[in-house]
Amino acid sequence: GKVGLCVRKGWETWGQAGDFCSVSSVLAMAALWEDVLYNELVIREAASLAVDAALLGGMLMRTEEEPNASDVVNYAPFTLLPSAVPSALFEQAYAVQQDFNLLVDAISQNKEFLECTLANTIKVDDFTARLFRIYTQVLEEGLAQSVFLGINRSDYMFDRGADGTLALKQIEINTIAASFGGLTSRTLAVHRQVLKTLGKSEEASHLPPNNPSKGLALGIAKAWELYGSQSAVVMFLVEEVQRNIFDQRCVENELWNRNIRVIRKQFRDVFEQGSLDDARRLYIDGQEVAVVYYREGYVPQNYNLQNWEARLLLERSRAVKCPDIATQLAGTKKVQQELSRPGTLERLLPGHAESVARIRATFAGLYSLDLGEEGDKMAATAIADPDWFVLKPQREGGGNNLYGEELRQVLEKIKDSPERTSYILMDKIKPQPSKNYLLRAHTPLKVSECISELGIFGVYVRQGKEMVMNKSAGHLLRTKAVEHADGGVAAGVAVLDTPYLV
Ligand code: ADP
Ligand code: MG
Ligand code: MG
Repeated sequence: GKVGLCVRKGWETWGQAGDFCSVSSVLAMAALWEDVLYNELVIREAASLAVDAALLGGMLMRTEEEPNASDVVNYAPFTLLPSAVPSALFEQAYAVQQDFNLLVDAISQNKEFLECTLANTIKVDDFTARLFRIYTQVLEEGLAQSVFLGINRSDYMFDRGADGTLALKQIEINTIAASFGGLTSRTLAVHRQVLKTLGKSEEASHLPPNNPSKGLALGIAKAWELYGSQSAVVMFLVEEVQRNIFDQRCVENELWNRNIRVIRKQFRDVFEQGSLDDARRLYIDGQEVAVVYYREGYVPQNYNLQNWEARLLLERSRAVKCPDIATQLAGTKKVQQELSRPGTLERLLPGHAESVARIRATFAGLYSLDLGEEGDKMAATAIADPDWFVLKPQREGGGNNLYGEELRQVLEKIKDSPERTSYILMDKIKPQPSKNYLLRAHTPLKVSECISELGIFGVYVRQGKEMVMNKSAGHLLRTKAVEHADGGVAAGVAVLDTPYLV
């Protein structure tokens, strides 16, 4: 039957939850939906309705077979049922987002910190090194850009402590091409309808409102306005393979609705048609570009020699880059690890003691593998006990981390080589699993043991030295079967979900 959660009236009262952390409520969370979970008839009917609701609501993706055409499309994978999220941790994640915005922005302006932090990494990691070279080159020439726009997504899991309580722990922060803000704006309506058809209308009030695409578009619109040219456009820089175009269209449409013109271009177009004038205004196809929004350029596979040239041209320009290359570097795993050292946050955010405390509370254990005594010790510890750690290279997009036996083998192999410094080590988060159905095209319905990752979108705009916008812009809950250690929605592992606040 019902899971013994207190019934609350409005979602504004959820923040007062006092017992969310107790062992019994953690177990109750895991048992949410048990009354319907194994009723096959009910589940089949709900799943078929859910899929149609997703299609009707525009929760769409192009297919693997035809990633660059919309003739045949499918629904983006999602959970049949929303997943339990402790309301206090949900609110904690929202409350720290503006602090993270401030922090990322501060790092992006701190050349000394980026230089020191990435010095060893760029000796062994070619991708980070190339980004860094563009960064220094642009600084040497002098920045033409004076308006800065950051769109990031800080991701968390709920770590189950030895005493059975849960704590919010940051997995990473994505400062470039953070996706699914568009599609997930539509997940809520689907889950609301599923709960209704299951006779759970009351429970539907536990799903918090969410519309990241609007928040992201407001940031882009503000940057466009401050750039100050009515006829200039916003350029979405997109990949060659565009399976997730509908996610981007959600944000695009919000801009069109504000009468801001959007164009979609690839690095190749920039290389072939892009140019700068004397004031380093960016033109493409004869149109001036006010804002470049990267949904591309975050992994080595996105680049060939021409694309690196195009990236340099964009970075040299006066256009607002979202993100500029410094902000992309601020999102590297190496930077994340250095932030966890005592005193680093205080140095980066002087006079912001409360922000520093809120940020630090979300940190899991992070360890440098730089050559030297400290790194030697950590490498040995992880080789002895690989299941307590995750080994992370400087990569994005899911599927790059190493766990367990594989972690041990790789670390054994590189433990005395400088290659070790291209990785960082992180404590492995152990969340409380719960059961759900993962709805994915051409996949049979079955109950999966799942864990979730909560992301909060952050948006900020800075003009010169002045922060003119600093906001959280909604959330993303992604859920995956426990047997997959790694991988996001785009990687075909996680699916879209909605938090059910308890
Ligand atoms: P990426 O930039 O590739 O998304 P992440 O740091 O987010 O890199 O790692 C990818 C995935 O690996 C995460 O979505 C999460 O599922 C898993 N993961 C990462 N770090 C940890 C951790 N410390 N504990 C448990 N799982 C983790
Ligand atoms: Mg990432
Ligand atoms: Mg990630």
